[in-house]
Parts: sequence; C-alpha cells; structure tokens
Amino acid sequence: MAWRFALTIDPAAPGDPRGSFAETFTVIDPAAPALSVGELSTQRGDGIFESIGVVDGHPQEVAAHLERLVHSARICDLPEPHVGQWREAVAAAAAACGPGESVVKLILSRGVEHGPAPTAWVTAAPAADFAAVRERGVRVVTLDRGYALDVPARAPWLLLGAKTLSYAVNMAALREAKRRGADDAIFTTSDGFVLEAPTASLILRRGDTFVTPAPHGGILRGTTQVSLFAHLEEQGFATAYATIAVSDLATVDAAWLVSSVRLAAPITAVDGVALPMDAAFTAAINEYLLSPRD
Ligand code: PLP
Repeated sequence: MAWRFALTIDPAAPGDPRGSFAETFTVIDPAAPALSVGELSTQRGDGIFESIGVVDGHPQEVAAHLERLVHSARICDLPEPHVGQWREAVAAAAAACGPGESVVKLILSRGVEHGPAPTAWVTAAPAADFAAVRERGVRVVTLDRGYALDVPARAPWLLLGAKTLSYAVNMAALREAKRRGADDAIFTTSDGFVLEAPTASLILRRGDTFVTPAPHGGILRGTTQVSLFAHLEEQGFATAYATIAVSDLATVDAAWLVSSVRLAAPITAVDGVALPMDAAFTAAINEYLLSPRD
C-alpha cells in the first residue's frame, strides 16, 4: 500500500474552544509501526472508523462523515469526537493527497488496554482504480445477515448501525460472494428484507423513483446515498426510504451499490438473475459523485 500520510490525534473534549488543533496532531511515518501491542482496535476490533473519498485533494461530504463518526461513537460508548478537531485532521490529510482519487480514513479506538484515553488516527492513501467496476457493474448474491428486521432495536449491544472496526463478517461475506461466482453481496434479514452490502448502500430504481432500505438501525446511513438522493431530487426524481422485501429485487428497473470510494457500481445480476443496467445514467451519477461535494 502506497500510503501518502498519517497523523495521530490527541482527542479533544467536545466543548474545547480552541480555534486550531494543530498542536494535538502528530504527523507520523505511515509505513512505520505506530500502535501499541495493547491496542484494543487490533485485539478486539473495538473502535469505529470512516472512509472519506478525496477527489483532486477535495474531501467529499466531510460533515456527513463526521456526523456518522459521532453517531457511531455514541452507539459504542466511546468519548464523543470533537468535530472541529477531526475536520482539521481531515483537511491536513486531504492536503497531502494530490491529484486523482484518494481515501482518507479516520479511526477512533477504545485505546490501549487499561490505558487512560482512546487512540485516534487519520491516514491518506491512493484509492484503488474503480473505473472499470463503475462501468461494467457487479453481480451480487443475497446473503442472510442472521437477524430479523427488529433486532437492532431489541439488542443495541450488537452495535448494528455503528461503523465499527469489526469488519471480519463483512469481509467473509465478500469471500462467500466470490465463492458463489459473484462480485459482491447484499445482506438480508432472516425474515426476508434487504439491508445493505458489506461495504456499500443499496439504491433501487423503479420508474422515476429511487428507493433505499430505511435506516432502522440495522444498517449504516450511507453518506453517498444521502448525497445522491439530494442530487436526484434536484433533478426532479422522487426518493424514498422503505422496507424492501428480498423478492422485490427481481422487479426493479435498475439498482446500484453506492459508497464513498467506489462510488456507484451498477448491479447487473442478483442471485444469477440479470438486472437491467443504464450505462449512460450510471455514468452521469458517477460524474456527480466525482464532482466536489460538501
Ligand atoms: N454500508 C456499509 C456496511 C459500509 O461499509 C459502507 C461504506 O463503507 C456503506 C454502507 C456506504 O457508506 P458511505 O456511502 O458513507 O461510504
């Protein structure tokens, strides 16, 4: 991995009035070891993160990402991140990105075992080249996430809806999708509703209406999906949040997986059944997603 930049953050309390937090950042060598062996992010995946797309040095949708970071911290009982401090850290990382597409990652972990404070750091790296996948699309399979639609509300300790560092299950789902001859997966509930992909939100098109699974707590509130819905509404399209049955997937006019770095990947097949794909419309969506967005 050709890292571009990394810094560690000494987390400030939410009300800290400082105008600049530069003194709380330590720029580190991104290729050198930096974490304690007692770090709970590595021992238990106990922490949260965000991945922000950066295009030609412009970090996209920073406010929405920081809002979700704060939301994830609340769900996980982590100290509330100081939004101004993290915004400044994102700006420093984005400034190191240069032209083209990059990814800035924000990580807030519970810290070192028995230690006094959380550990926080930010990295910047070049993004993978997703041009072909944006054009060609992805074949997906539906995979059972193993819980019913009402579980997130009944069992908040499962941390569903937080963007935690525990992505081993998400990565296992991607491997299972590949074993089944697909490129990606859509998680479903045990009672037959669609949720999200392991690293993306799902958007379906029916006529001039775009629909995404309701953020009932079991899925992440996708910053790309929210941004795209605002853009589509400006274009005169209708958008909606809904409870979507797995059986509905076969009847849509088009569908996409959307996320901050890969952007919009059109879905070409679900469980081996082909879906219609609109190449020109998908290209227009990705042009919007690549334009500077705040
Ligand atoms: N859902 C999951 C599980 C994800 O990991 C991601 C992105 O990483 C998303 C949805 C999409 O979120 P965003 O559009 O903010 O990247």
